[in-house]
Amino acid sequence: MEETRITRATFDEVFTPNYAPAAKLLERGLGSRVWDVEGTEYIDLSAGIAVNTLGHAAPEMISAVTAQASKIWHHSNAYASEPGIRLARTLVNNTFADKVFLCSSGGEANEAALKLARRFAFDNYGDGKHEIVSFQKAFHGRTLFTVSVGGQPKYTEGFGPVPEGIHHLPYNDLDALADVINERTCAVMVEPVQGEGGLIEGDPVFLQRLRDLCDANGALLIFDEVQSGVGRTGDFYAYMGYGIVPDILTSAKGLGGGIPIGAMLTTNEVAASLVIGTHGSTFGGNPLAASVANAVLDEVLRHGFLERVSEHAALLRAELEGIGDRFGIFSEVRGRGLWLGAVLQGDWVDRSKDVASAAFEAGVMVLRAGPNVVRFAPALNITREELTVGLSRFRRAVETLTLA
Ligand code: PLP
Repeated sequence: MEETRITRATFDEVFTPNYAPAAKLLERGLGSRVWDVEGTEYIDLSAGIAVNTLGHAAPEMISAVTAQASKIWHHSNAYASEPGIRLARTLVNNTFADKVFLCSSGGEANEAALKLARRFAFDNYGDGKHEIVSFQKAFHGRTLFTVSVGGQPKYTEGFGPVPEGIHHLPYNDLDALADVINERTCAVMVEPVQGEGGLIEGDPVFLQRLRDLCDANGALLIFDEVQSGVGRTGDFYAYMGYGIVPDILTSAKGLGGGIPIGAMLTTNEVAASLVIGTHGSTFGGNPLAASVANAVLDEVLRHGFLERVSEHAALLRAELEGIGDRFGIFSEVRGRGLWLGAVLQGDWVDRSKDVASAAFEAGVMVLRAGPNVVRFAPALNITREELTVGLSRFRRAVETLTLA
């Protein structure tokens, strides 16, 4: 067979055109460092969009995947094995939940949550209680149901007709809530901190009001913690920091630390509606993925791990605020834990793409959260040295941009 030389140009030849990756192909990573195929080193302050919880090539994950790889990779859900059961056990032991459904991504976990909410309402209240309330700027995934519940109209444009009975309200706006959450509502889906929407923290009063209105109307409160979960905010799940408990919680991204896995967590009462045959996922709970997620959770739940996240978060925030003050580029730095958004101002409004590109040129990977927010979501075990080097490269990128 003819040898194919793979370059960045090959990507455009063979991929559907819905992504536009950077000009350099990445080759390998170690901790919070990544190298491209030419050997250029980058500090990774993006962690694959809040996924690489333990950085790249973490020894704990390599051991887990290696040990499991020579046992069993996959079996259907007609059988069960230890890694998936252990994962669900750990999630149940460390959260409000009694029951777990495993799947392969955040969108799939949210799809399960939304379907379960409709089914629970159907089982307990009959027809007519199917409405879902969600929020503008929310992001819940890319399936048709989850883009429809998400609050970014550009993601449903041209894909209609979309599922019915979905209402979008302004986030953190108490006045908008009262009439829309009513006896026809089966669920309210919300990110306790909006990630893709721009690192906007839920107001505790607002989230508590959602809890109260759900209780008053027999609706389920779904927290989408796909991005905020697994230690990202400094709490194991963000709901713990708020002290507001949902009926359903979805988790993915950081749960697998880089292997695709998702989970939907709920109570015994709500789970009772997912009887045999109502829902499923071929790869959900796959022993290979679950064994890696177990290694991630063992680390994140280890004594002292989350305290260190909060310490490094304080350093990251202080340095970003310093860069903002020095170069006048940010109006504020917001977010929680190792998950911060620097909001652009003045001449830099809506230029997060330029800032992220300049950062990559300077040897540091950062994210965007919409056109006006530069997002930082490093590995939770990033070292002080990696963080300091990454931030000094980011400072240099901002200096080059603003003084140009
Ligand atoms: N929910 C939230 C809050 C997210 O941030 C994301 C991804 O960015 C998703 C759901 C979708 O997850 P996935 O891309 O794994 O389907």
